[in-house]
Amino acid sequence: MSDSKICDLLLTGGTVVTVDEQRRIFNPGAVAVTDDRIVAVGGADDFLDWEATRTIDTTGMVVLPGFVDTHQHLFQYLMRGLGEGMELWPWLSEFIWPFADAIQREDAVVGAKLGAIEAAHSGVTAVLDHHYAPTDIATTLGVAGAIEEVGLRGAVARGMMGNVTDIARRHNLAGEIFRYSTDQELAMTRECIEARPVGSHVGIWPAPVNVIYVEQDLMRRSVELAHEAGTGWHTHCSEAKTDPIYYLDEYGVRPVNWLHREGLLGEGATLAHGIFFDDSEIEQVGDSRTGIAYCPISHQYIGLGVMRLRDLRGAGATVGLGLDGGSGHRLDMFSCMKQAVLLQRVHAQETTVSNGEEAIEMATREGASYLGVEAGFLAPGRLADMAVVRLSGVHHTPMHRVVAAVVYSASPADVAYTIVGGRIILEDGECTLIDEEAVFAEANERSNQLVKLAGFESLLEPWRMDPRTQHAGR
Ligand SMILES: [Zn+2]
Repeated sequence: MSDSKICDLLLTGGTVVTVDEQRRIFNPGAVAVTDDRIVAVGGADDFLDWEATRTIDTTGMVVLPGFVDTHQHLFQYLMRGLGEGMELWPWLSEFIWPFADAIQREDAVVGAKLGAIEAAHSGVTAVLDHHYAPTDIATTLGVAGAIEEVGLRGAVARGMMGNVTDIARRHNLAGEIFRYSTDQELAMTRECIEARPVGSHVGIWPAPVNVIYVEQDLMRRSVELAHEAGTGWHTHCSEAKTDPIYYLDEYGVRPVNWLHREGLLGEGATLAHGIFFDDSEIEQVGDSRTGIAYCPISHQYIGLGVMRLRDLRGAGATVGLGLDGGSGHRLDMFSCMKQAVLLQRVHAQETTVSNGEEAIEMATREGASYLGVEAGFLAPGRLADMAVVRLSGVHHTPMHRVVAAVVYSASPADVAYTIVGGRIILEDGECTLIDEEAVFAEANERSNQLVKLAGFESLLEPWRMDPRTQHAGR
């Protein structure tokens, strides 16, 4: 009498990095899935008597929890490659805002599809898309639908500007993007949440664009709405050195101290960047277990600064990794993990400040906790969200340590399967649910039109001469 076990999907033969409580690694290991959940994880030998509707031989591969991208602006991938060498506030006022004014619903939707496809190629299974252009109800829901069409889970954090503030006015940020009043913004977000309530594959979160330059009233009421609807909420906070200075000047308080004073931190609170926090802000974010999106590539690309990773994680904050839209150029979780470590090391001038294990934790279990999804580690009962990565090829030879291979050697080209809730959304390096070529063609066409509409032709200059280095004869 056989006591064989039955499941829908069995991944067996590869190295299984669980990122569970004990950080167990099984080599060779196996993961069994039924419906959208993991039902068993362990050594491959324990699964010899299992029967599965589909078995995938993962020999030579690593099975990981799917990556979570905790801060994205998918629409910005339509402007990939542009905006080089600009500082943050001019990058916003002269590049991103004019682009945000020009972009239409169909553009945003195809931009989201493009980004979601790239995410799937990168082993990302869940994304928090901070979407802020355009933000009418149909576009916001269209972007959520686009992410879902590719097969990812997550949330569209609907970016809100509300009534224009003095800070925005003083820094040339008070453009067309402030098109809805605070009341209108909140009503529209509420309607979007009703259309995609908690439990949706891709939900909607309230997301004032930036705590520094939106109204305090919008911040307070956004958090109220999130608590009422049972969603998380999101905003940018203290990414530029000047952010807390402007805020102090205007309100006489540092931004996180204010959020803390108002009781807005904690459950469901997620802040992107958090680079310029003082000790009291680190403590408040840590004590309340607030989520922080660490975006090391955009921090370097825009020359912002280095997040206090050690202090934040030490204090108890939930820190995930984010790719942050166009300022990363490439939606690549592997380079994000690598840069997350290297940036800390060069800043501290010390090697032990971070490591590959920490990078994988942030990209998986911490990110899932930040986003409130029951994934992030491989254990029975968890959602079957997984990335399966090939560890073959010259850059993986010889393969001594799987953690180092994933963080320092691997790239999206190595991702063989991306699985969300037991459904294979990427197989043999191709998305299974969407016609990639059709999306690329439409994205190219719409992006070219947008460059003209936004008046960005000057940004297309193929080689930008730098008078500081172009000496005669060099
Ligand atoms: Zn951002």
